[in-house]
Amino acid sequence: MERKVRPKKPRHILATDLDGTLVGNRMALAEFNRYMLKNISNFLLVYVTGRTFSSAWRLILEENLLFPDVLITDVGTEIYLSPRFKHDPIWEKKMSSSWDAGKIRAVIDNVGGLHSQEIYPRFRLAYCTDKAAFKDIALKLSLAVEMAKLPVRVVPSMGHIIDIIPKDAGKGPALCYVREMYSIKKEHTFVCGDSGNDLSMFLRGFKGIVVGNARPELKQAIKLKSREVYFSKSFYASGILEGLKKYGMV
Ligand SMILES: [Mg+2]
Repeated sequence: MERKVRPKKPRHILATDLDGTLVGNRMALAEFNRYMLKNISNFLLVYVTGRTFSSAWRLILEENLLFPDVLITDVGTEIYLSPRFKHDPIWEKKMSSSWDAGKIRAVIDNVGGLHSQEIYPRFRLAYCTDKAAFKDIALKLSLAVEMAKLPVRVVPSMGHIIDIIPKDAGKGPALCYVREMYSIKKEHTFVCGDSGNDLSMFLRGFKGIVVGNARPELKQAIKLKSREVYFSKSFYASGILEGLKKYGMV
């Protein structure tokens, strides 16, 4: 399958989650945009979100975000490349090869307590749970998919959201795929996040930035599993800039 990578040859990747990381404070965001515009030839700008494609674009337009070079949506199951933002065909094939939504749903139905988010992306089942039952259900679900030998990954986030995605998917794996496509070094790749579904980006040897307002679920998981991560004191986009500064990029 043919794929055309845009001619830009950046040395670094700045990959950031949207809600609660890049987006959350408009003044901070404006400062981030100014920095990024000044350094645009140096960075491949990648947005990595749990939102669907259309919802991500609504946010990009509403919040005046810079247009990214790559947009990864649906918790790392879909990858779209600028300038036309079409699906990446090779990633699509990788996702569809092991995905059988009917079979997965049958296992999920037996677990109970999961309410559909009423969005229907192609390679993702999106649920929410009651907050009190969240941990218990996430655990039960993980065990159920393991018992059924389903090639999927269970991604808990925000204390009430659970996504089921193909085993090779996720924000981290999707970003690894993009990094390889652009031949950018691991140590030149910066990742920024605030909640549980960002965790997989922090476990790949990239330079991590956790914004100051991040949820405890992410902070705790990272402290246990990952080393090269900077915990910013500043919130949202200011936290990203603080991290870049710490890594000598500002
Ligand atoms: Mg977030």
